[in-house]
Amino acid sequence: MQRPDVNRSSFDQYMLPNYAPMNLVAQRGSGSRLWDQDDREYMDLSGGIAVNAFGHCHPELVATLRAQADTLWHVSNVFTNEPALQLAQQLVELTFAERVFFANSGAEANEAALKLARRRGWHRVGPEKHRIVAARGAFHGRTLFTVTAGGQAKYTQGFEPAPEGFSHVPYNDLDALRASMDDSVCALLLEPIQGESGVHPASREYLAAARALCDEHDALLIFDEVQTGVSRTGDLYAYMGYGVVPDLLTTAKALGGGFPISALLATEDSAPFLPTGTHGSTYGGNPLGCQVARKALEIATRPELQDNVRQRSAQLHQHLVALDQKFQCFTEIRGKGLLLGAQLNEPWAPHLRDCLQAAVEQGVMVLSAGADTLRFAPALVITEAELETAMARLERALAQVAANL
Ligand SMILES: *Cc1c(COP(=O)(O)O)cnc(C)c1O
Repeated sequence: MQRPDVNRSSFDQYMLPNYAPMNLVAQRGSGSRLWDQDDREYMDLSGGIAVNAFGHCHPELVATLRAQADTLWHVSNVFTNEPALQLAQQLVELTFAERVFFANSGAEANEAALKLARRRGWHRVGPEKHRIVAARGAFHGRTLFTVTAGGQAKYTQGFEPAPEGFSHVPYNDLDALRASMDDSVCALLLEPIQGESGVHPASREYLAAARALCDEHDALLIFDEVQTGVSRTGDLYAYMGYGVVPDLLTTAKALGGGFPISALLATEDSAPFLPTGTHGSTYGGNPLGCQVARKALEIATRPELQDNVRQRSAQLHQHLVALDQKFQCFTEIRGKGLLLGAQLNEPWAPHLRDCLQAAVEQGVMVLSAGADTLRFAPALVITEAELETAMARLERALAQVAANL
């Protein structure tokens, strides 16, 4: 193998310090396995933060991308293209949506959803109908608008003045939500399962009441399914499992299985509020991304894949219970499908980063969420045997941390 001319310390030399990546440089991946520059193997339970839903370099996605690369890369939105139209049609057939807008990231899809809701309020009532209600501990992206929607001070501090017109309510608290909703609200923005802040699922009653409150106050219900979408929870979108249908839904992360693409799904009623010229994206609807996403959605909707999500979820859950019995490390195990969080208890919580580090040393990649939660978002195609290998490595990692508690 050729000797690499960059390594982890190159990050500190050349890159802005806004990330603090773990001490390995990923070089290649296949399925749920990844190798670093020293050819060390890792089992990947991080899934690129719920992006690599089909593992690394899924052969069908690779073939699709290769074929599209030989056909058409980009045309802009001055012209449309077949993969974009076909992907929009597919999303409409598979979900509540009747209209689709394409962008490139979760934040951009949310930005479009919030802009649509603002403009709808403005058009139907007037500028006073502009308030956006969102949940504490939410995560909706890093643009100034979406980071303000998220309402976590650590992400907005120092970036003020922030956009105005947001109200934040405690998540899953129905009384607080009811108290915050009135006719000045143009949109209620919620994650069905809060991913970044610790894998907190909403209750069904909460989402159903959110739906009713939005109807009562003529506000749009927006589900941010950037993390929960594309069969992550075992349903194509989490709203399907909850049986609560939003007006707008944002999807990104796994939508392209690692190729950057996102979409805003909308109803026919809400679509006219982004008329020609009011919003756009240079790369949105790019044929490469759309063609890959078409194949990704096709794989994501196969019954055997969704069955695998449920079976591997139960297997992962059992292992987490067993780890807790062995090390007394968790207060709660939460989540759905292959988005699970295991919250560390008090003696363990200060060692969250040590757990991630020890995991890497033992050859398994896991995520954190919030201040004290281990998060698992493996490929939806991970096999029983791969998960066994990964959890055996995680057990060794936790034993290493336990020895130093
Ligand atoms: C990751 C995430 C986003 C932001 O997506 P980007 O592609 O990083 O902009 C938004 N909402 C949720 C729920 C997410 O998990």
